[in-house]
Amino acid sequence: MAAEDRALLTRDRRLLMHSIVRLGYCPRSTDAEEQTREVLRRFRLTGDSGHSPPYTRCLRCNALLQSVPKSEVLDPLSAEPLTLHYYHDFRRCTGCGRIYWPGTHIEKLAARLARVQANVLRYEPEDHLE
Ligand SMILES: [Zn+2]
Repeated sequence: MAAEDRALLTRDRRLLMHSIVRLGYCPRSTDAEEQTREVLRRFRLTGDSGHSPPYTRCLRCNALLQSVPKSEVLDPLSAEPLTLHYYHDFRRCTGCGRIYWPGTHIEKLAARLARVQANVLRYEPEDHLE
């Protein structure tokens, strides 16, 4: 976090008090979707100017994803014949090389994002206590 100048997100308040932490946040909620809303609000990542569109960063290393033709994933996904049969839109992480495609989980993920975005601007009284 310090080496990459990133914010630390944790519910461990003692960890946040460590002198090496320059920018940190402790979500109040224990619910993952509400925590996401808290972080979007805290770092002003709401609206058109703030956040990057979904499905553009690697879940493992956070580098940008790049569209790649199917021909380039035939070898790395050779152990996934059903994936290669049913999917045609692939992206590769520019950092670690991990390959992504809109698999069966994409509808659940899209629904979760819609719920987060629908309520992210909701008035939160606790925001005024800081
Ligand atoms: Zn990656």
